[in-house]
Amino acid sequence: MTTPAIVWFRQDLRLHDQPALVAAAAEGPVIPVYILDDDTPGERRMGGAQRWWLHHSLSALQQSLPGLILRRGNVVHELARLMAETGATRIHAIRHYEPWWQEAESEIAAEADLVLHDGNHLARPSSILTGGGTRYRVFTPWWRALLERMPPPKPLPAPKQLGTVPIYLASDRLEDWHLLPTRPDWATGFSDWTPGEDGARAALRAFLPKLRDYDGTRNLPSQDGVSRLSPHLHFGEISPATIWHIAAKEAGKAAEPFLREVGWRDYATNLIDQFPDYPQANGKPAYDRFRWRSGADADADFAAWTKGRTGYPIVDAGMRELWATGFMHNRVRMIAASFLIKHLLIDWRRGERWFWDTLVDADYGANGSNWQWVAGTGVDAPMFSRIMAPLSQSEKFDAGDYVRRWVPELASISDPYVHDPEEFGVRPVAYPPKLIGHREARERALEAMRETRDG
Ligand code: FAD
Repeated sequence: MTTPAIVWFRQDLRLHDQPALVAAAAEGPVIPVYILDDDTPGERRMGGAQRWWLHHSLSALQQSLPGLILRRGNVVHELARLMAETGATRIHAIRHYEPWWQEAESEIAAEADLVLHDGNHLARPSSILTGGGTRYRVFTPWWRALLERMPPPKPLPAPKQLGTVPIYLASDRLEDWHLLPTRPDWATGFSDWTPGEDGARAALRAFLPKLRDYDGTRNLPSQDGVSRLSPHLHFGEISPATIWHIAAKEAGKAAEPFLREVGWRDYATNLIDQFPDYPQANGKPAYDRFRWRSGADADADFAAWTKGRTGYPIVDAGMRELWATGFMHNRVRMIAASFLIKHLLIDWRRGERWFWDTLVDADYGANGSNWQWVAGTGVDAPMFSRIMAPLSQSEKFDAGDYVRRWVPELASISDPYVHDPEEFGVRPVAYPPKLIGHREARERALEAMRETRDG
């Protein structure tokens, strides 16, 4: 019998354009395994919303790949155990860039024939270099360099047939992992999502008719103008190369604004590949001395922010959408994050952690780099002094319907009052007053920034 090979699944829960699976299938019998490892990522173990998604995504993968084995424990030990049980010596996997996965990959490669494949990104991050051979830190020149390498390779079809091993291999029951919330079941509002490869492809199909309008609608939270592909991409249920080819075929040059956003995901990985600690360490070290607020008042403000009770309708709508659905529109993520950092002067890392636990698309690179970008603390970021005014942002991006949808206390308030009821003297029942006025918050933030700058 040909020796079987293990396919180690992580955030690549798909059969199409899955080079690790294709390579293993070409060699002989395949042992596909997913290992739930809460130990290796340490503090970065998956948050609640991601676990909900994972449950459903694995359940979908089990349907299309009935031989999928589920194991729980440290990946290094579990893979060694599986090799001993099956006689396999080779493991195929798609390369991951989170620092804990990179460390695990090195440990595994010391004991096994680990073959790592590209496939979760448009290009390998270390392959996009300046003329001088150095890495990019800033998006625009990085994007230009990436474009020279595009299109990405054509997606691979799913293997037609997989050889299996004729031995019994124990597998956990997904239900026994208790990935879904029970008491309370906070995920009742997640029902619009369809995790899994079919769901990912359906989301892309549903988005294609909106692709040409994307540039005009992507910043408007009241409209359904974005793809909502981020959790599918995070869990690798669809590859970015697949998205690239389908979108480019559909709209040609007009697909570029959308593909550029897909590019931001690769760019975020480019940052964590260079700065593995980026989601928890200021890119600009001067901000290590920034005096973030702390103590009981800051804790109370943070709690109000998480619950969507800041008195700023657009911020509250976003935070409530997040809690209810595990998602928040990108424009609103920027406004809500900026509000926490600059209006409340709360360390961006606290917000990043909240998002980590509550977003279905929580992604080490994308979340960390976007929080640093909004904070102005990152290697690529605009200045801290660029302070977003949530109320005028709400008006500018026509967020009235979005606010009415997510903040029921404001459901009957029309534009323009809904953007800032307090300013117009409207006092909706049960809606909280602003935690702090915009002008006062702006002055306080600029003063804190001056203190940091002047040492
Ligand atoms: P679309 O607009 O349809 O874009 C298509 C795809 O491009 C997205 O699915 C996503 O994979 C990628 N993309 C778009 N914008 C960005 C971006 N700014 N950075 C990286 N990739 C991007 N995105 C995550 O995937 N995970 C996160 O944890 C995450 N945290 C964020 C935190 C903050 C504070 C901010 C401001 C943004 C964050 N983003 C994150 C980026 C962005 O908000 C989401 O990717 C986007 O809202 C997902 O919706 P969509 O799939 O409809 O995006």
